[in-house]
Amino acid sequence: MPELPEVECLSRAVGKVVEGGLFEKARFLRKDLRDPIPISDFKRILVGQRIESVERRSKYMLIRTESGFGIIHLGMTGNIICQDSPKPAAPHTHAIFQIRTKSDQLQWLHYIDPRRFGRISAMKGHDLEGHDFFKSLGPEPLEARNLGTYLFQQSRRKKKPIKNFIMDGGVLVGVGNIYAAESLFKARIHPEREAQEVSLPSYNLLAKQIKATLRRAIKAGGTTFRDFKNVDGNPGYFRISLAVYDRTGKPCVECRSPIVSIKQSGRSTWFCEKCQK
Ligand SMILES: [Zn+2]
Repeated sequence: MPELPEVECLSRAVGKVVEGGLFEKARFLRKDLRDPIPISDFKRILVGQRIESVERRSKYMLIRTESGFGIIHLGMTGNIICQDSPKPAAPHTHAIFQIRTKSDQLQWLHYIDPRRFGRISAMKGHDLEGHDFFKSLGPEPLEARNLGTYLFQQSRRKKKPIKNFIMDGGVLVGVGNIYAAESLFKARIHPEREAQEVSLPSYNLLAKQIKATLRRAIKAGGTTFRDFKNVDGNPGYFRISLAVYDRTGKPCVECRSPIVSIKQSGRSTWFCEKCQK
């Protein structure tokens, strides 16, 4: 499932091709993904418009024009590839966008999504925080200043486990299962600790580790997306070395105790009982 680092890298790769270009055509091979695609709104906001930038908010890619944003979410299995042809190059291609780049080349962005949990939408204007998709989202972890203090304040009187707390998109966006497990290990915090019981110094350390883990994944992904023309290319997870994730029974990299696995709200969690308190 594409997470924040994958969407960030894909957005940068798409931006390199399309920024400053003209969005000439949008062709949809079906009318819905997870929900109906607002095709006429999408065309009104994008087609015939200059692409100012490609941005990201949470796991949404945003194609900005003067009129508003084209909004793309990759869901579980979505991907975007850049092709020299408008002909679908892969099964499950659901949308094809024709872009005339600023150097006057034609390029086609193909949206592919076998399981169709993704989303294509559009919004008029640029008030993201007022839009249904974005209005209840927490801050971006890589942009937030004083993230440790913010998490500490938000967590007061919250009894839920710290891992669930940092994965709650209303608190903070983009901390998926892998990144939560790894950051908690690095900050030496037990994933089942009540959020309200974690101290400010521990939140400061956790904030630092969340940022570091996400930055490491984005760096690893930079190479993956240098060429995103490959039909088989799947954003998947970027390969970074992981200390606890999916390492049940293997020795802790710090103390050699076996890594333990538990379920929390239906999701697997890995941690070291000795290092994380
Ligand atoms: Zn350990």
